[in-house]
Formats: sequence, structure tokens, C-alpha cells
Amino acid sequence: MTDTIFAPATAAGRAAVAVVRLSGSDSAGAVRALAGALPQPRVAALRALKGADGAPIDKALVLWFPGPASYTGEDCAELHVHGGSAVVSAVLEALAAQGLRLAEPGEFTRRAFENGKLDLAQAEGVADLIEAETEAQRRQALDQLEGALGQAQHRWREALVEALAMFEAAVDFPDEEVPADVAARARPVLEALLGELESAIAHVKRAEQVREGFRIALIGAPNAGKSTLLNALARREAAIVTATPGTTRDIIEVPLQFAGYKAVVADTAGLRETADEIEAEGVRRAKAWAAGADMRVWVVDGSAEEGGLPPEALHPHDLCLINKTDLAPGPNTGRALVEARASGVEVLRLSARAAADLAAVEAALARRVVDALAGGELPTATRLRHRELLAEAAGRVRSALGFEDRLELAAEDVRLAARALDRITGRIDPEDVLDRVFSSFCIGK
Ligand code: GDP
Repeated sequence: MTDTIFAPATAAGRAAVAVVRLSGSDSAGAVRALAGALPQPRVAALRALKGADGAPIDKALVLWFPGPASYTGEDCAELHVHGGSAVVSAVLEALAAQGLRLAEPGEFTRRAFENGKLDLAQAEGVADLIEAETEAQRRQALDQLEGALGQAQHRWREALVEALAMFEAAVDFPDEEVPADVAARARPVLEALLGELESAIAHVKRAEQVREGFRIALIGAPNAGKSTLLNALARREAAIVTATPGTTRDIIEVPLQFAGYKAVVADTAGLRETADEIEAEGVRRAKAWAAGADMRVWVVDGSAEEGGLPPEALHPHDLCLINKTDLAPGPNTGRALVEARASGVEVLRLSARAAADLAAVEAALARRVVDALAGGELPTATRLRHRELLAEAAGRVRSALGFEDRLELAAEDVRLAARALDRITGRIDPEDVLDRVFSSFCIGK
């Protein structure tokens, strides 16, 4: 038997209503002690809550969810109280006085997982849905919560079991005519599976970009207007704008949304040769961030005589912005055009001070974010943990296909591939993996 746990399910702070939830076998006793007789299952009842000393705490809606038909699979209850911090504290104290324990982060969902209400991938979907800020994040998380990855895993596993049965039949009846024939029949099954695994792996990156944000680096010479542009996009003073070159030394990351997708736009130190140690470190970080970004925006001061160091690696889907078109163009404009053309990068001219120009830049950025993230159906696997396990399974399948007529070895690889897939839904995962997944949850979930 496990402890009975409780926690506020709503965020701390003043609010109209706060929800405190309970789970475990002592929930019924605790509700009776605080609120009198148990309400009917799943029907809200208005009750006066009392503390251990019998003094009233609040009037609350009380909901009773007897297990196993509850979120965690255990007896659960919810107390919907007035959302003041003193009320919530008094309720929590009264529950502790009943011998209940405050839940760890993610403990409700962990119990749901342990009682077979959710698989591990679905539990991750719960966490992602709570974190979701954009439409795309919400859709992706909901799909995962509804079990899309678990269903795919189930299908992939069936293919492995089918191939394994063929190999085992061939091994068990070596004298008959089966072996070569059966092994040949397992091959297309495994090849089709490998194709599906590879495609799921290829889509994980897109899912990670949706979850964590499409990374856009603003790069260019000092004073090109990167900070001005970032502030204009963010509609606030996120970065310091000065006429003194070399002001931005650290990387300033600002989360923004484009067309319903999260993006992280970073202002970086201006690229130039410098003797200043701190600035040089800033330039090094700027280059590293830009190299790892999903897209680079090269900002150029079109009015300048010269433009400092050009960015090292521009990709064809990056963007070149020739800024300060409100000033007379200098030689730097022509130089940047040549450089941009050589890299196959689209060029936009603007003044970061002109609202209409900014709209064009926003549209260009949104187009690239959508092109990168919006393709077709939702990715089934969405995080590094999934990608690693899929890669392990794919590697085993590839190895099984390479064994030709050494069927025992191929069968062992197929078994190991199935184990890797089982870990996606967490059924055979060791405690520390589960601890890691659930500890990233908030308390009360
Ligand atoms: P950063 O070093 O690339 O981040 O450049 P800043 O954004 O700090 O801008 C450097 C200077 O250029 C500041 O004085 C800005 O006000 C100015 N500036 C930025 N954009 C424009 C523009 O479109 N037109 C003009 N005239 N000045 C600009």
C-alpha cells in the first residue's frame, strides 16, 4: 500500500479558485474528516471544510473519484476552495494533520503510470501539454497524451514479434525445408519496419523544435542594428541599443511566436576582430550559437563603409537583412549583396526603425519557421529519449538484416530491438529513468 498524497493542483498566488487534490487509500477518511460524509462519486458537493480543531476553514466544492476510475487509478478527491494563499495553507495543514503527505513533483502522474492509466510517452505528453504556450506545442502534446507514440510502438513491436516467430520456426525445425524460405519472408517485414523507424527518427528534430522553439540567431558586425531589430521584434527593450560598438557581449535569447510556433531569437555579440578578452569570448559564443541555430539572420549596416567579419557559414535558407535604408547606402551594401548571393541567401532591405519594414521581416521569418515545422502529420516521437531508443531499435533491426542465414543471431537482435521499443512506453525501465522523467513535472500533477 502506498502513502496517501495531497498537493495544490493550481498555481500559487491569488486566484478565484484553487484546487487541492488527494490520491491514495486514506483519501476517503481525510475527506470525511474535513468535509463530512463523502459526496456521490464524480458529483460536485458544496461543503464546509473544517480544520483538525473543528474550526471552519472555507466553503468548498468537493469531488470524490473512487479508484480505479480516477486519474491515478487510486481513490482520489479534489477540493475546490477559494484561491487565497491562507485558505490553501489551512487546507494543506488540515490534510497533513490527517497523516497525509505532500506529493513529490509528478507523483500523481507517476501513480497513474504505475497503475497502467498512462504509458511513459503519454506521461511526457501530460508534462508537455502543461508547458505548451503555442498552438503547435499544444497539438503535438495532445497527440502524445492520446497515445500516438504508444500505438506506433505497439505496431512496430508486432512486426518484430512476427519476424521473431519466423526466425524461431526456422531454428526449431532445421531439418525441414523451412529455414531459407522463412528467413526470406522475415526480411520484407523487417525492412518495412526499419523504414518506419528511420522516418520517425527523422521527424524527432522537428518535434524538438516545436517543443523548445525554432532557434534564430541574429549575427553581424557591431552596430549593424541587431539589438534594435530584436527589440522591435520583441516589442520591448530586451537588448541594450547604443551607438557604441561591441555592447552586446553575452547572448540574449528572447522567446517569440511566429504563426503559432515558438521561436527563440538571439542577439549575439557583433562579429569583429578584437583585443578585448571579454568581447572576444562574446564573439566565440556568438559563432557557436549561430552554428547550432536552426536559422541565421545576417544583419548588415548598409550605410557603413565596411562591414567587419562576414558570418562563417550561411545556409541557403538563412536571411540577409541590409539595415539602415533610411540613411545613404555605403560600400557595405554592395559587399553584402555579393556575399549573400554567393551563399544563395535571400536579401531584404529595411530600416529597423520603420514599422512597415519590420512587418516584412516578421513575415519572412514566419515563412521559414512554418516551412521548417509545419510539414504534414504530427511527429510521433518528440524527444531525445525517444530518438535514442528508436535509433537503438533501428540499429538492431539493421544488424538482424545483415545476418543472412545465421538465424539465432538475427533473432537475438530482433529481441533486443523489441526491448528498446518497450522502453519508449517505460514498461521495463529502471527506477532512475522514471525518476528523471517524473521529476521534471510540477507539484500537483
Ligand atoms: P548592434 O550592435 O548590431 O546590436 O546594433 P544596435 O541595434 O545597438 O544599433 C547600433 C546603432 O544603430 C544604434 O545607435 C541604433 O539606434 C542605430 N540603428 C539601428 N537600426 C537603424 C536604422 O534602421 N536606421 C538608423 N538610422 N539607425 C539605426
